[in-house]
Amino acid sequence: MTITATPNKWNPEPEIISCAAEIINASGLVAFPTETVYGLGANALDPEAVKKIYEAKGRPSDNPLILHVSNYSQVEELVFTNELAEKLAGNFWPGPLTLVLKAKNIVPLVTRGGLDTAALRMPDNPIALALIEKAGKPIAAPSANISGRPSPTDFESVLHDMCGRVEMILDGGELEIGIESTVIDITNPKKILMLRPGGMPRELIEEVLKMKLDVPDSLSAKRSPGTRYRHYAPEIPVIIYRRDSDLKNLDLKSAGYVGTHEPDFETREKILFSDLKNYARGLFAAFRKFEREKFSCVVAEWPEENSGISEGLRDRIKRSSED
Ligand code: AMP
Ligand code: MG
Repeated sequence: MTITATPNKWNPEPEIISCAAEIINASGLVAFPTETVYGLGANALDPEAVKKIYEAKGRPSDNPLILHVSNYSQVEELVFTNELAEKLAGNFWPGPLTLVLKAKNIVPLVTRGGLDTAALRMPDNPIALALIEKAGKPIAAPSANISGRPSPTDFESVLHDMCGRVEMILDGGELEIGIESTVIDITNPKKILMLRPGGMPRELIEEVLKMKLDVPDSLSAKRSPGTRYRHYAPEIPVIIYRRDSDLKNLDLKSAGYVGTHEPDFETREKILFSDLKNYARGLFAAFRKFEREKFSCVVAEWPEENSGISEGLRDRIKRSSED
């Protein structure tokens, strides 16, 4: 059975948080809001609890999980830190930036997908922070969706995918960012790798580091296995629309359109966002709506801009459109 609760976002009720923390400490699963997407949480240090995350999602066991912390002192217990970690955390935490560092033995292999590194982040959401704090443990949490599907960014989407699979779902309403965190590998301070673009724009990280982020070579890409799997995809096809591409010949009368500009073709419905931030924020919910209402496909506008959230947004659109 799954219980649900709606804590006050800015001042979460202690009874609700205690109940959720008890579940975490009894090796159970709690889905909770962050600022990026909803997470499916378990005690990151308890291998039996973490195994349940993989089972509930149907997630391949070599796809490592991000450990969510509520204060910086936890970081030193979990990984071998360096000056960069402190600097980046100081600038960007709580926020949508995940740091990959050499793991200490306390982090079970199952949590890190068998790797010698662990990924850490402090989420910018009072409900998430209160839960981690109360549980007194780092919480491993991938997105609270069945593996491969669009990440949930509202309560109904979490309920749809996770009802009956988790002990508790915390309703945090709609979320601010809407796509997952940016993941960077800082194990080698001379060569920082961008493993996954996301909610934290590349240029802000580069400004603080005073250096460019590197592209992982094929070996390092293997070290971030999540980037290999089919991801973010609704059950209907996603077609990419570049403004110079010509889709006029396709029959898109039953399609749903998402983007920031009016398309030059007719669709059954258009969801137009005022800017790219809002596009990222609403992308996955739009995918799920068009899927639920049995549209023939999604046509997603390709963001051409080269700053802010656009790199992360392009990554999600591209990967949701691949088989
Ligand atoms: P998700 O939980 O679905 O947002 O995915 C987390 C992603 O972060 C994984 O799929 C990996 O690509 C990346 N990640 C997590 N832990 C590590 C790690 N130890 N080393 C490299 N990448 C990681
Ligand atoms: Mg995910």
